[in-house]
Amino acid sequence: MIVMKFGGTSVGDAAHIRRVVELVRARLADRPCVVVSAHSGVTDALLDQAHKAVVGKHDLAALRERHDKIKAELGVDVPEHEALFQELSDLLRGISLVAESTPRLLDHVASFGERLSVHTVAAALRAAAVPARAVMAYDAGLKTDSRHQRAKPLPESFDAIAGNLAALSEVPVVTGFIAKDDAGSITTIGRNGSDYSASLFGRALKAREIQIWTDVPGVMTADPRLVPDALPIECMTYDEAAEIAFCGGKVLHPATLQPAVEADIPVRVLDTRNPTGPNTVICRDVPPSRPVVRTVVQKRGICLVNIVTPRMLGAHGYMAKVFDAAARHEVALDMLATTEISVSATVEDDRRRLPALLAELQQLGDVTIDRQVAAVAVVGHAVGESPATIGAIFSTLAREGIALRMISMGARRTNVGIVVGETDTARAVKALHAALCRETPAAKAAGAGR
Ligand code: ADP
Ligand code: ASP
Ligand code: MG
Repeated sequence: MIVMKFGGTSVGDAAHIRRVVELVRARLADRPCVVVSAHSGVTDALLDQAHKAVVGKHDLAALRERHDKIKAELGVDVPEHEALFQELSDLLRGISLVAESTPRLLDHVASFGERLSVHTVAAALRAAAVPARAVMAYDAGLKTDSRHQRAKPLPESFDAIAGNLAALSEVPVVTGFIAKDDAGSITTIGRNGSDYSASLFGRALKAREIQIWTDVPGVMTADPRLVPDALPIECMTYDEAAEIAFCGGKVLHPATLQPAVEADIPVRVLDTRNPTGPNTVICRDVPPSRPVVRTVVQKRGICLVNIVTPRMLGAHGYMAKVFDAAARHEVALDMLATTEISVSATVEDDRRRLPALLAELQQLGDVTIDRQVAAVAVVGHAVGESPATIGAIFSTLAREGIALRMISMGARRTNVGIVVGETDTARAVKALHAALCRETPAAKAAGAGR
């Protein structure tokens, strides 16, 4: 069997959903398990309504209209929507009455995007004579802990999913992004999390392949929205893809590769609009002769935390205190650099968790925080082992006059990360891509290209 995950744009309107129906129909022999996201933009719109409800200003008219239009254009009737909109409306009214929204309520509100879309996609499949059934991921057995908005799947989910879905004779159309905790509350596994749902289902069902159908022809040498001449990449290792996802390559949720690696299942990224065109397969063994540089990625929405203190001089256990504080406040330190008297780290700019961490770090030294930054990473299996590539990275940035706020290269040498000023980010990505990823003589000398 295979898992086919369709992202927000791929189910964004009736025309796209018709394509999805054809793609699934053409693969019935592979016994697909279909995982879908909310229609594009719906999760943002739902969360916006939750915030508006706090001040009593919510209004579901536009969301209803969007869903009704898609159903009308597809010519399908989806009776389940009425009860879902009623539940959503009651929930928003509840939020407006208490004038407060908690992470648990936000997860409940956000869940409606996927809970609505699976019914529409399943109805469209049935209308095309494909037996299909909408399945809520939690009814299929996906259970998480209770860390709302960033919940972690519990291992018992795998057997439960395998048992529940094996009994289905129809094609399951499963909600991405959402699950439930032990107490039965709806949780979400992080924004953009349907990719992760797909690989969790792939692992549970021992799929032959996990297919991520999206709006680009695979993982590319850069985000094509920023770099129009970015090229698709044919194949890459789990490590390279995981690094790209962690460093900001939005095409895959950062946790997607983990279940796939554990079960050694290839992940294929494909373009819904051009199914027979280029795509990327991510697996364990790829040709060793592949290019050194695979992708230049950028990560925004981060900040740079600097701690400076002479107390670090010759002291032991200082870093342990920094890590301990970060762990207790559940803030991940992404990139890290230290000197004898300073520590710099990039962290997600999470306005809920950061203030308490920063207050604690103040006790360890002078803390400054720089929010006008972004991380740029050059990712590839041997980037750090290629002096020509390292040389090309720094000479390119120097030529562009781009100031570096921090540099980091991990022990595995699959990525060189650089923090730059936010306004320099696009220029840095474009220049690095031109120097390292295009098939120019300079790029070839640096071991790059496709
Ligand atoms: P979906 O809704 O299908 O999950 P996303 O918007 O989450 O789609 O991810 C696809 C987007 O990822 C693309 O439209 C592209 O702009 C962006 N992207 C960022 N980096 C890359 C990259 N290296 N290769 C391909 N796409 C990328
Ligand atoms: N709908 C969710 C989001 O917008 C999950 C996803 O699209 O992957 O974040
Ligand atoms: Mg996505």
